Amino acid sequence: MKALEKLAAKNPAIIRDWYRDPDGYWINLHYGWQLWGCHSLHELTVSQALETFKAVEPCDCLECRTDGEQWEDIDLDTGKLRIFGKPQD
Ligand SMILES: [Zn+2]
Repeated sequence: MKALEKLAAKNPAIIRDWYRDPDGYWINLHYGWQLWGCHSLHELTVSQALETFKAVEPCDCLECRTDGEQWEDIDLDTGKLRIFGKPQD
């Protein structure tokens, strides 16, 4: 646990928050960062979480570029990629 507190303190621009639950350890990332297409990471142990965190990379997806106001996802009706969220100006 201490190790994750330290990691979060050292990386305030990347880590939004982290927590532990019965499934393991979760780290939520700020907009602008991603891991394998997700904005969070989940591992069963602290050491795995520390190791996995090293693979976090910058993200420039629509959701990050708009601070979460818009995001792209598959439209279940059409099967095509579509923009969700706040309407564009
Ligand atoms: Zn992103």
